[in-house]
Amino acid sequence: MIGILSGAVRRRAIYPAGVLMKAMGTQAPSANGKLSGKVAVVTASTDGIGLAIARRLAEDGANVVVSSRKKENVDRTVADLSGAGYAVLGVPCHVSKDDDRKNLITKAVEKFGGIDIFVSNAATNPTVGTILECSEKVWDKIFEVNVKNALQLTQLVVPHLQQRKGGVIVYVASIAGYQPMPLLGPYSVSKTALLGLTKAVAQQVASDNIRVNCVAPGIVKTKFSSFLVQNPAILEKTTETVPMGRVAEPHEMAGLVSFLCSDDSSYITGESFVAAGGMFSRL
Ligand code: NAP
Repeated sequence: MIGILSGAVRRRAIYPAGVLMKAMGTQAPSANGKLSGKVAVVTASTDGIGLAIARRLAEDGANVVVSSRKKENVDRTVADLSGAGYAVLGVPCHVSKDDDRKNLITKAVEKFGGIDIFVSNAATNPTVGTILECSEKVWDKIFEVNVKNALQLTQLVVPHLQQRKGGVIVYVASIAGYQPMPLLGPYSVSKTALLGLTKAVAQQVASDNIRVNCVAPGIVKTKFSSFLVQNPAILEKTTETVPMGRVAEPHEMAGLVSFLCSDDSSYITGESFVAAGGMFSRL
């Protein structure tokens, strides 16, 4: 599951940027090496937004640790990214499993010598329904994966960031955390909690030179949002709620995360950034 080939610089010398991006199946901006030498761990990064983030951080020069529950997805992602020339390690990790969380962090440190960047992207929404219909079981599952496991991974990662004398944490929340979606009631509240987690953790680690920020995507074309974007009639209704008149591609979230992971955002911490095509975003 480990694949390390030549770096981004060498690839750029071989392939024109457009050819390379087409081959990689993304339209993300070209690499600039601004994360060279950094080690980034991204949860839930074998598909959708997490994969786009992992790919972008790798393009920016980071050594990237990809993970998700299913080993076959992790293996596929490692083959894809290492085949494109990136330094990548794959570690299966179901964020709700204690052993998996510890193994993810241990393997990342063993392979790359430390951690500089942690992107907490995993989330679940086991059922569609309003907040008052929510069962205790569903509530507990959503808050376990979306909030508690994000904190538990943060607790494991912070000592490693402290060892490096600094680092970056990014939580992936949602526009629904600002404006609850009626049929995603408990999920929306869990994402609001992440906005608070961002501020709470940021305050505690600011003096360690660790910055903690949050991104809140709008509606992004992924498996997770397939019920909103696959059916043309529903997609039309969905896009009516977006001033820009379209849903996003996963890589449109990755650029924002890349910025927050880089020194370009060196004086920003405890903040949440909405990338939602103009959707309403006030608490
Ligand atoms: P996605 O395309 O469905 O991808 C989900 C990824 O998460 C897969 O790699 C999956 O792989 C992994 N995964 C699922 N459960 C996991 C778990 N318990 N532990 C570890 N990995 C897990 O989803 P997405 O749309 O990119 O969503 C990513 C994040 O963006 C989530 O936090 C979501 O709430 C947020 N978000 C999405 C949208 C949107 O419109 N798509 C909007 C706002 C926010 P395995 O099956 O192998 O585990």
